[in-house]
Amino acid sequence: MTENTASVSFPILVVEDNPVTRKILEKNLTRAGYHVSSMGNGREALEAFKDRFFPIVLSDWLMPDMDGIQLCRAIREKSLPGYVFFILLTSKDSKDDIVQGLNAGADDYLTKPVLAAELMARIRTGIRILELEKSLKSALEEIKTLSVTDPLTGCYNRRYLQVHLPKEIQRSRRYRRPLSIILCDIDHFKRINDTHGHTAGDKVLKSLAHRLAGLIRKDIDWVSRFGGEEFLLVFPETDCRSALRAAERLRKAIAEKAFDLDGRGVRVTASFGITGVEGHAFDEAISFDALISEADHHLYEAKKAGRNRARGAPYKENTGA
Ligand code: GH3
Ligand code: MG
Ligand code: MG
Ligand code: MG
Repeated sequence: MTENTASVSFPILVVEDNPVTRKILEKNLTRAGYHVSSMGNGREALEAFKDRFFPIVLSDWLMPDMDGIQLCRAIREKSLPGYVFFILLTSKDSKDDIVQGLNAGADDYLTKPVLAAELMARIRTGIRILELEKSLKSALEEIKTLSVTDPLTGCYNRRYLQVHLPKEIQRSRRYRRPLSIILCDIDHFKRINDTHGHTAGDKVLKSLAHRLAGLIRKDIDWVSRFGGEEFLLVFPETDCRSALRAAERLRKAIAEKAFDLDGRGVRVTASFGITGVEGHAFDEAISFDALISEADHHLYEAKKAGRNRARGAPYKENTGA
């Protein structure tokens, strides 16, 4: 990586009470392409962290008010958006001093007078470590996303549902805000597999999930793959009547447009079971399983009534449950 791209990603905070040394450091680093801010002591540097994050700190040791060791300790105690690579500048170079600096959490040290070439080399070491941190973080983000995503359809998986639906139920009851769920089951899906093959079945599942996801409120509603050819949609802030209307819209969107299988159009329908937390249900303890089994009950009614339809009622109404 060149210093120019690093300069954008890794701004440097120089902390030095001596104005001449500070200017020299600033000039050298700026000339090398880094974005540099500078402060006259540890206290000011810590203040600067309130407005901005600096992944690299180059700090003098002896300074009035708050010295480099105190600054380093304070930074290590803070909860910050990323790692701070801390280089201590010092005219002290006894082994004991160095050990004290490193024990305070410094990553590296430079002895004054600072050689420009050595300074650049130390900064590059810091950047290598920060780059490594960045790539680990993005790998971790990817793993987190994968762990809650269904690989075939890209919707949330059951693991996500099991964590987040109970939270939605809890929130709905606490604030007495409606919450609806829609259980969607593809009709006679076995026939699709039997007629066109399992790979074709997978394609249909994928496009159907995509169609569902495209028709719900972005960032509010969400779809999860509940089982093989079943999806569970969660609609916060939505009463059962509105959810029934939404399900009807989804039903039509599936039934009215054929799914493309390598140029061939395949018609598919789905049935929907809906239920919602509202009214007196706010006062009931409602488990994840109870809510889903209520939606499943309505889904069964929709299937029994001939499939390709939506049925539902608010939680614990008209089910005999
Ligand atoms: P119904 O209208 O009663 O829901 O009929 P159905 O055929 O959809 O229901 P059934 O539960 O009998 O069959 C579900 C089928 O879904 C059987 C199974 O092979 C298929 N299936 C489940 N998961 C997948 C998958 O990931 N890919 C494919 N291609 N098929 C799947
Ligand atoms: Mg000093
Ligand atoms: Mg099924
Ligand atoms: Mg089915």
